[in-house]
Amino acid sequence: NEQARPRTLHLPTTRKAAAPDPHDTPAVAHPTPPSAPMGNPLAGSGRAAAARYVSSADTRRAAPGAQTTFAVPRNPFESVKPMDGNLVPSQLNGSYTFDNYIEGDCNRLARSAGLAVANKPGTTSFNPLMVYGGVGLGKTHLVQAIGNHIKATAPERFVLYVSAEKFTNQFIDSVQRTAVQEFANFYLQVDALILDDVQFLANKGKTQEMFFHIFNHLHQSGKQIVMTSDRPPKDLQGLEDRLLNRFKWGLTADVQSPDFETRVAIIRNKMDQDGIDIPPPHVVDYLANSVHTNVRELEGVIASLVAQSSLSRRDIDLEMVKQALRHIIEEVEAEVNLDFIQKTVAAYFGISVDLLKDKTRKKEVVTARQVAMYFAKHHTSHTLKTIGFHFGGRDHTTVMHSVQTVSDLVDSDKKFREQVDELRKKFAK
Ligand code: ADP
Ligand code: MG
Repeated sequence: NEQARPRTLHLPTTRKAAAPDPHDTPAVAHPTPPSAPMGNPLAGSGRAAAARYVSSADTRRAAPGAQTTFAVPRNPFESVKPMDGNLVPSQLNGSYTFDNYIEGDCNRLARSAGLAVANKPGTTSFNPLMVYGGVGLGKTHLVQAIGNHIKATAPERFVLYVSAEKFTNQFIDSVQRTAVQEFANFYLQVDALILDDVQFLANKGKTQEMFFHIFNHLHQSGKQIVMTSDRPPKDLQGLEDRLLNRFKWGLTADVQSPDFETRVAIIRNKMDQDGIDIPPPHVVDYLANSVHTNVRELEGVIASLVAQSSLSRRDIDLEMVKQALRHIIEEVEAEVNLDFIQKTVAAYFGISVDLLKDKTRKKEVVTARQVAMYFAKHHTSHTLKTIGFHFGGRDHTTVMHSVQTVSDLVDSDKKFREQVDELRKKFAK
């Protein structure tokens, strides 16, 4: 019985902790306007809104008239306008979905675990689910997609997305208002808690302690917890061991920089969503080759291309891409020349450049030639025809076949992939 479970959490911190942890002072500028969500609890309709929320939450959970045991928690998000008619907004951005989250080797595990969690929050062994990876690689998108999916398929569940920074600031505020209990009670009602950028809690002992209690309570009650971090848990210095240990209860999955194919898919998908014609493959490839680290950066370039294309009423072509890259990224020299590719690949395989262009069908030579053509395709803007011409006058179907063969091998043969990746580093830049 839902209602039998006590809703109040008794925190050891509330007895003494009147002053915030000195480390808890946010080091960076606070993104929330000073008036919100902190400030005078009596200001505006805060109390009323909170009460309204709580009674609504109760009726969602209990039979009408059922008794509840928890104190009226103040909604720390109260200054945020309710969305979608829900009294407490989930703080989710509806545009982050699984549909527009492109899958690739770089994120396959994280994505499928995320989908499993989204379908069965709290009941899979992926609890907590921890997604980690570098900046701009899609962590926030993925965890927001989880939240949106739960909201869409199980609207009665209370999903809450919060950055660890906001969580920290809300907590500090509650300490200052001696309303820590209220703060905790608010979080205890959540069915699926998504805490983004958990590394922000490093060296913030009191906030960690609070999160630890909330975590335990939610986990014990079968609620889902999803977190992201910019580094693997083992490198989360400044986080308490007991908290790090909790993270191991579930699943930890990383997201990595997208590979070439994933970048192409992201570009095509984004342009399609933005309602513009997708440029020819060599233009998309050029763009995918120029920005390889970070999806956010890639999206920046795409946004500027889309804007320029619609302003000038021109289709996106190679010139426009080069122009856009000039504005946005510093290392513009995405273009590697054919000569350099041929020399580098030939040297790597220990043969001469002449053999690459030769008619010989010896296996090592064929492989080297195909690899060189593959890089020529992906790292220059030359057409298949031009590439064929520079490889001893072969025709474009031969080049196409070579590129495909290498792509397939990269997918299926680990050893081969490592070789290609090693070479790729020489052309990236
Ligand atoms: P992070 O939280 O890891 O810093 P974000 O989730 O904010 O990264 O992603 C940055 C941008 O890149 C977002 O606009 C997001 O939609 C987009 N993005 C990242 N990965 C993907 C992906 N696999 N498919 C589609 N878009 C992606
Ligand atoms: Mg993020």
